[in-house]
Amino acid sequence: MFRLLNVAGRAALEHDGHWHDLAAATGDATLADPMAAVARHAELHAVQATLAGRPPEGAVDPAALGPCVPKPEKVFGIGLNYRSHAGESNMELPPAPLTFTKFPSCLVGPQADIVLSGAAVDWEVEIVVAIGTGGRHIPQAEAWNHVAGITLGQDVSDRVVQLTGKPPQFSLGKSFDTYGPIGPALVSVDAFADPDDIELWCDVAGERMQHARTSDLIFPVAELVSYLSGICTLTPGDLIFTGTPDGVGGPRGRFLKDGELVESWAEGIGTLRNRCVAGR
Ligand code: ZN
Repeated sequence: MFRLLNVAGRAALEHDGHWHDLAAATGDATLADPMAAVARHAELHAVQATLAGRPPEGAVDPAALGPCVPKPEKVFGIGLNYRSHAGESNMELPPAPLTFTKFPSCLVGPQADIVLSGAAVDWEVEIVVAIGTGGRHIPQAEAWNHVAGITLGQDVSDRVVQLTGKPPQFSLGKSFDTYGPIGPALVSVDAFADPDDIELWCDVAGERMQHARTSDLIFPVAELVSYLSGICTLTPGDLIFTGTPDGVGGPRGRFLKDGELVESWAEGIGTLRNRCVAGR
């Protein structure tokens, strides 16, 4: 197993609360790039196993972490992928994954501020998977072998921009700068007892808003990877935001306000703490 971090733009592995610079630990300067590290995910297990006897570069400071996958080629978002959320949105269960894009420029680290774009900005806690080994037409039975790791994300969404059009176009309303906090670490799949049953929650201003398990997904990760790879060639680092459970603000008219803290947590991954600040 491994926990891959982005420390000030450099790939690092987390061990026992400390971080080890990946290029320094391996003597391979090309592994300083977090995207190179994701593409070479299979090698990271062996590196992680050497860290117990190595002096670390420092203690992990979550506020100093960048997005663990900083420059993916593609970022897919999946709408209405929890049975519970489809229910609260009063939508029929989709026959195929409802897919939009979050442009990669929205990605930020686990404690970055969320710069609010308006008065109807909503939270969506989500499990995010990163492709490690690319491919096309990946069968469901092989899909997890193409995943480098799992992280946590917020699919922050401006509901006005997302839903104004007829038909609505989701991508821009979910792509404002800072609308994609991810992290704190990219955790290898083998670190999870069952990667299809991960607990996650989201608190806003101290109030529990969302709480679910990924076993409630309508289209689980293997189906998403197989479906998307039937359309696009998947590339190492591509991210899939797998969808959000019920408890978002929109259906009850409760949106993010200047100064509020959004805390997101997932079992085996960790916590995001993102403060909302007013935009221009
Ligand atoms: Zn979402």
